[in-house]
Amino acid sequence: ATEEHTHSFQAEVRQLLDIVIHSLYTDKEIFVRELVSNASDALEKMRLKSLTEKDVFKADRELAIEITTDEEAKTLTISDSGIGMNKDELVENLGTIAHSGTKAFLEKMKEQGDNNADVIGQFGVGFYSAFMAAYKVEVHTHSWENGTDGHTWSSDGATGYSIDENSDAKRGCSIVVYLKDDMEEFSQEARIKGILEKYSNFVSFPIKLNGEHINTVEALWLKSKSEITEEQYNEFYKFTAHAFDDPRYTMHFSADAPLTINALLFTPTENTEQFGMGQMEAGVSLYCRKVLIDAKPEKLLPEWLRFLRGVIDSEDLPLNISRESMQDSALVQKLNGLITKRYLKFLEKEAKNNSEDYLDFYKKFSRFLKEGIATSYEHQAQLAGLLRFESSLEEAGKLTSFAEYIDRAKDEQENIYYLTGMSRDAIESGPYLEAFKARGLEVCFFTEPVDQYVMEALPEFKGKKLVSADRGEIDLEDVATEGEELDEKSAEKLIEFLEKELGERVEKVEASGRLIDSPVAALTPKDAPNAQMRAMMQSMGQ
Ligand code: ADP
Ligand code: MG
Repeated sequence: ATEEHTHSFQAEVRQLLDIVIHSLYTDKEIFVRELVSNASDALEKMRLKSLTEKDVFKADRELAIEITTDEEAKTLTISDSGIGMNKDELVENLGTIAHSGTKAFLEKMKEQGDNNADVIGQFGVGFYSAFMAAYKVEVHTHSWENGTDGHTWSSDGATGYSIDENSDAKRGCSIVVYLKDDMEEFSQEARIKGILEKYSNFVSFPIKLNGEHINTVEALWLKSKSEITEEQYNEFYKFTAHAFDDPRYTMHFSADAPLTINALLFTPTENTEQFGMGQMEAGVSLYCRKVLIDAKPEKLLPEWLRFLRGVIDSEDLPLNISRESMQDSALVQKLNGLITKRYLKFLEKEAKNNSEDYLDFYKKFSRFLKEGIATSYEHQAQLAGLLRFESSLEEAGKLTSFAEYIDRAKDEQENIYYLTGMSRDAIESGPYLEAFKARGLEVCFFTEPVDQYVMEALPEFKGKKLVSADRGEIDLEDVATEGEELDEKSAEKLIEFLEKELGERVEKVEASGRLIDSPVAALTPKDAPNAQMRAMMQSMGQ
């Protein structure tokens, strides 16, 4: 190898390869899935390119994946006729880590030290996973662009790689995996066939194994539920969503009115945004009669449902709709509303029938529901019903809902009271709760930083007004208190004194029957931001 064509891996790649090679993955076969998934992605990109590009290198090559096993040479080769890569793309895609997900993975691995067996199963490392099984990997590739050169990328997965010109390279990618001694099984046809069986039917291009066509493209979402096993659902989810967990919820339905819809929606078990992997992209693809229109349409569902994965297929979409005009079409807006409602109804049912499982979902995904309350007025009522929180009448750690709150409250109670704060302790040690306690009124506790915004955005639930318990205008009935009351005259004097002392810092000072143990409390005037809000505004420099 001469200086010119050898390159070193970016430091992060070396780190990643070190982890991959001294592998913590117990499931070695996942590298096959990663490579097939890349081949499928490249073919899909080629399909889209060919709709708009006239000048394509070897335009008539069939879009397909060809896999060959060679037991003698101990190799596995995965070839596709997709978009391929030019030299710069090889350096960028197979020499650096461009994906925030993989970066987050490395961070997490560092944090966890030796206890990383759990972490690793939740992430994919994509192309680099080939080095779990390989002592050498070669990528022969030619870009879709006419007038560019073909190349061979080669690496032992240690410190770097080489790139050489290759005038024989066909359009697409051909990846040769030279198997380590203890990985020879992956050069056996039967072994590879077994692996491919799980998901090859979800790939919408022909897959050939040693020349034989092995998949029948299957639109799982168009089949009836009774014909599909849980394992098939799970494999479909993992393959199409590039996921490493099983779905928590699988929702599969069809409807004829007002639109013809076949939908298969997966709720993941893990919230990858929690791992610091950055904001997820929309993950529900839009099809029309089995034809993919857009893999990641942003407006098909509200942004706060970006954690959903799966497929929506509607016969009512015009087949020739462009991706651009699709985004803004009235039809897509209608789909958006219908499916969102239906999904929230599904969650309501889950919350009722499998409440423990729902709470587990809620702990990981409540952030999205709250985002929905703050941004989607039309779904607010349903979303509010899905909220869970602690409250003054329930023991610490137990979560309750607004519906349960209303059940417990007296019929004539018009408001639902709540307080926001850093923690249950912080709320309970403040001066606002005592007045409500003394009157037997329940107060909901909201303890996440976003809750302040969320509650400001939510005016009511089932006709009961949501009222922050630190509001000055709350009218509470009188209760008997111990100790002596100030006579009217002294009270007036005290008020006068306080108003003078506090000056412009307060709107007014009042004697009130509201306090039980505390001598004085600062309340929030009508229409003014409360203490948490003010603190937040201050920290933002306003
Ligand atoms: P991901 O698939 O999540 O983007 P990978 O590590 O699997 O991450 O792949 C990295 C990048 O390498 C891909 O985004 C793609 O640009 C490129 N790539 C990998 N395999 C192929 C292929 N068969 N054809 C074309 N490009 C590929
Ligand atoms: Mg990939």
